[in-house]
Amino acid sequence: MSRRMYRSALVIGGIVAATALVGSTAASAAPGRPGEPRYGAGAEGAGDPYFPASGNGGIDVLHYDLDLDYTPPAAAPAPLEGQLSGVATIELTATQDLDQFNLDLRGLTATSVVVGKKSMSFTQSDGELVITPRPKLKAGESTTVTIAYGGTTTRPTDIEGALYGWVTTRDGAMVVSEPDGASTWYPVNDHPTDKATYSFEITVPEGKTAVANGLLVGSETADGKTTWTWDAPDPMASYLATATVGNFRLEQYTSASGVPIIDAIDITRSAGQVASLALTSDMISFFEERYGDYPFVSYGAIVDNDSVGYALETQTRSFFSSTAGESTVAHELAHQWMGDHVSPARWADIWLNEGWATYSSWIWLEERGSSTAQARFQTVMNRAPGHATWNTVVADPGPLGIFGTPVYDRGAATLHALRVKIGDDAFFDLAKEWVARFGGGTATTADFIALAEEISGQDLADFFDVWVYQPPKPTVW
Ligand code: ZN
Repeated sequence: MSRRMYRSALVIGGIVAATALVGSTAASAAPGRPGEPRYGAGAEGAGDPYFPASGNGGIDVLHYDLDLDYTPPAAAPAPLEGQLSGVATIELTATQDLDQFNLDLRGLTATSVVVGKKSMSFTQSDGELVITPRPKLKAGESTTVTIAYGGTTTRPTDIEGALYGWVTTRDGAMVVSEPDGASTWYPVNDHPTDKATYSFEITVPEGKTAVANGLLVGSETADGKTTWTWDAPDPMASYLATATVGNFRLEQYTSASGVPIIDAIDITRSAGQVASLALTSDMISFFEERYGDYPFVSYGAIVDNDSVGYALETQTRSFFSSTAGESTVAHELAHQWMGDHVSPARWADIWLNEGWATYSSWIWLEERGSSTAQARFQTVMNRAPGHATWNTVVADPGPLGIFGTPVYDRGAATLHALRVKIGDDAFFDLAKEWVARFGGGTATTADFIALAEEISGQDLADFFDVWVYQPPKPTVW
């Protein structure tokens, strides 16, 4: 689903990357007679300058049905490698006349591609699966693409060297794909502008638990294997999908405001390592008051024994490495509104995810009687002008800067400074309206600034200039 992408691109046509998202697809159409289809190849990327190969042009995925079969590694000293085979059934609509289109698929081998009911020829190289549909697809035409694929799973890393994607563990796999790791486990249009719904059937050795997004439909065991079925009906960005496998116990309950919670706790975790999850229900109520109703069908946490070195706001089922500490539990929960429901239109806009999530944990911790948001803001502002917090354009941190200190801390400080400038009422109206207006899709920094100005009635150009468009430490705003 990508309506928001076109909406943003049209409304703020001056934004370079948004223009590129559309321009890159249009450029490849071949000449033809007026009114006749102009078949061409969909672009191999979605047009995001930070991850140019990520995502694809010419298609809008509506639904991914992922049928996975996974065998975790044998006990050490066997290599830390698993075996994954999958059938992805992808419902998509062509957004231009296509004689060829791509999906992202990395490190796994496609063995068959069916479009509609017919087998198609395809090629695979450099993380791109190239499909030539016959008959060709007309713009607006919907079809089902079924891809059988598989291979050996390893421990992929992102451009910074951090583990991500399908990370093989001794007892299963940690599956966390921000920003562009989804293609390490399924064929995907891997960009947040193309949200889709998902369903999962994950078959693992009996005794293992496979945990995905949304609601647990059920599990069935036969011949020493268990198939776990999950349904995720809320539109979701590809990096937020998970199919984590391990030795988990599931804990199911309902939050005070009625959200079904499913936690998956690695059986080796101590009570102390997961104690903060008991705050989840209160935190949901706290954020619902400020950001509006919880946006999805369910929530919950996965706490694994292995670590990728960070937590991830996997949609409806946040992932925690080893331990779920209170501020991180608040941070990942707040991301469900800020990042998951409203997602970045380009990776350059990541401060809208991380600034909001970080600020959310500040206000939660204040509520709990820890230091105030004002005190945490002051701590950031006490950093000397030469500190790394003040060397980055927050609204364009570069692909290696998307998880850096400026994005998190200065992003949160920006929101606190904005709150002081426009007042609590306008600030929390803005938070709610941001989620209401852009929820289910994506938005840009320019969208945020425009909404802040609309709701506050103030001209905030200078404010955002010093906070998110200029590197130096703000002194007046
Ligand atoms: Zn975060």
